[in-house]
Amino acid sequence: MAKKLLIFTDLDGTLLDLRSYSFAGAEEALRVLRELQIPMIIATSKTRREIEFWQQRLGIRDPFIAENGGGIFIPKDSSLPPPEGARDTDGYFVLSRGVPYATIRRIVQDLRQRGFRLRGFGDMSPQEVAQLTHMTEEEAQLAKEREFTEPCLFEGDEEALRVALKERGLTFWRGGHFIHIQGFHDKGQAMEVLEGLYRMKGGDFETVALGDSPNDLPMLQRARWPIIIRRTRGISERAPRIDQLTITQEEGSRGWGKAILELLRRLGYG
Ligand SMILES: [Mg+2]
Repeated sequence: MAKKLLIFTDLDGTLLDLRSYSFAGAEEALRVLRELQIPMIIATSKTRREIEFWQQRLGIRDPFIAENGGGIFIPKDSSLPPPEGARDTDGYFVLSRGVPYATIRRIVQDLRQRGFRLRGFGDMSPQEVAQLTHMTEEEAQLAKEREFTEPCLFEGDEEALRVALKERGLTFWRGGHFIHIQGFHDKGQAMEVLEGLYRMKGGDFETVALGDSPNDLPMLQRARWPIIIRRTRGISERAPRIDQLTITQEEGSRGWGKAILELLRRLGYG
């Protein structure tokens, strides 16, 4: 009998192709996962509203990790126990670990006055976000509805920025398109919380994590089965040493789909 699995996946550059946001290459694998009723937890720098949009397209309705672990969202009908300290809102139990967006915006503006060349989503129109990210304007609007992190374009000395942010209780992660200014939370910590809830619900399972960028490393390092999706200038080019690590041959959704189907075969699922 194959072990139960719990899948944690990034979206941009991982399940979704980097520029087109297509998941065509993963459709077969997604279908198999749905059939096997394996939970698929999206863990991304995207906002709650964007994830809801993608969950609908992907046909999944599992808990998810928004804004790099700033918020953990558990649908109230998911049969998971509500985590301690969670807020009951909009049909979810929400556990927030992030710094409020308004605070982050104030700090970004302050740093800009001090000469840091930062430009965040809060400074941009939906049209501009759409252009930079190759999203539609409707999706860009969802991306602007932020709660815990600010994606920024940045030119300059990253180390100096890191020091200035740290003095103000913040840090940043590098994602596929932007740097993400935020509090000290990450996808790995959020993954740990959800693993705990699934364990409380009962049953043993193994975790799979898929990602392509530095902000995915805390999640990949926790996983029993870590999978790095190949990408130019991604972490596949200087992969860390992690046990059982797979690096896909192909980029984006095709790499994702093949890696998942291969893992399922290897673990004895049909
Ligand atoms: Mg990514």
